[in-house]
Amino acid sequence: MHAIVYHGPGRKAWKEVPKPVIEEDTDAVVKVDSVTICGTDLHILKGDVAAVTDGRILGHEAVGTVEQVGSGVKNVRPGDRVLVSCITACGSCRFCREGSYGQCIGGGGWILGHRIDGTQAEYVRVPFADTSTYPVPEGVTDEEVLMLADIGPTGYEVGVLNGRVSPGDVVAVVGAGPVGLSAIMGAKLFSPSHVVAIDLADARREAAKQFGADLTIDPAREDAVEVLRGLTDGLGADVAIEAVGVAATFELCAALVRPGGRVANVGVHGGPASLDLENLWIRNVTITTGLVDTYSTPTLLKLLATHQVDLARFVTHRFPMDDFLEAYDTFSRAADTGALKVVVSS
Ligand code: NAD
Ligand code: ZN
Repeated sequence: MHAIVYHGPGRKAWKEVPKPVIEEDTDAVVKVDSVTICGTDLHILKGDVAAVTDGRILGHEAVGTVEQVGSGVKNVRPGDRVLVSCITACGSCRFCREGSYGQCIGGGGWILGHRIDGTQAEYVRVPFADTSTYPVPEGVTDEEVLMLADIGPTGYEVGVLNGRVSPGDVVAVVGAGPVGLSAIMGAKLFSPSHVVAIDLADARREAAKQFGADLTIDPAREDAVEVLRGLTDGLGADVAIEAVGVAATFELCAALVRPGGRVANVGVHGGPASLDLENLWIRNVTITTGLVDTYSTPTLLKLLATHQVDLARFVTHRFPMDDFLEAYDTFSRAADTGALKVVVSS
């Protein structure tokens, strides 16, 4: 089969590799029907993620058809259409028992395309298939479901739920890439009074409006703190969701929120950000952060199946698997190509 193989910083190839086989009795081998590329894959390709070593097949998001299951797999059968989650869950360790699948110590967590071979391939071995795949509901497309492999639960759990977005809130979302847009979409489910999207890129601010932002701010031209104060009698946003992953935007979020407000950090930071603890302390600001757990995937699948969220609009580009490298090129030049999510299908 063919797969995208990482060969050290800046180097990848679409090449022939051995097809995966069942290794543990809890595994499934899934034929990948549609797969996408994540901003985190670009971090890996820069060499920012040390755990990913030469020869690793990338990718942690897929929808596919189960080809084979191990003898211990109970809920998944050959022929089933499944969502392969970015987080694998052993289902029985102390973290999995409380839904913190991202922290699994039973052999799961973020492993696909990271510590084991991933989904950017014609076939993938999925460990703990019973607790790491989800049946695709009737009446939805592969593409829609694929948006729930990572970005959907990430924006919703780590942004909206950690930030405790509540009716009437003024919510600032800093960064309107796929993750920030899914936070905007998720925040809207809670009837906020205003969702304000802050992004440097014109195309991303435009996308934010289409995803339901009431107002957008270009931080290069406007003082976002002042705009938010203007909307809130001088107090600041109730919730600020950081969906970029650089120190300046985290610090902007901390400055944007009102006393008693919440900062939900979603971005993956390559370096430290400053914490003005005295200022945060005196204002009772709560800060949350974390790797996605994907405990909300069943909820999001229900919202999708009942047409309460529109996930199709994330997909801006489509490619056949043989053009996988072109798909990467389009995604990595998002500022020029306007790419949000790029879907590669067999
Ligand atoms: P992306 O690169 O597509 O989007 C980031 C957006 O931030 C872009 O639209 C860009 O224009 C904007 N931006 C950059 N610098 C800015 C600045 N100084 N001020 C305002 N806007 C700025 O990324 P994405 O795929 O949407 O992911 C967002 C972040 O979430 C990344 O750091 C990614 O690694 C992270 N992530 C976290 C998890 C998790 O488990 N917590 C999971 C997946 C992704
Ligand atoms: Zn576990």
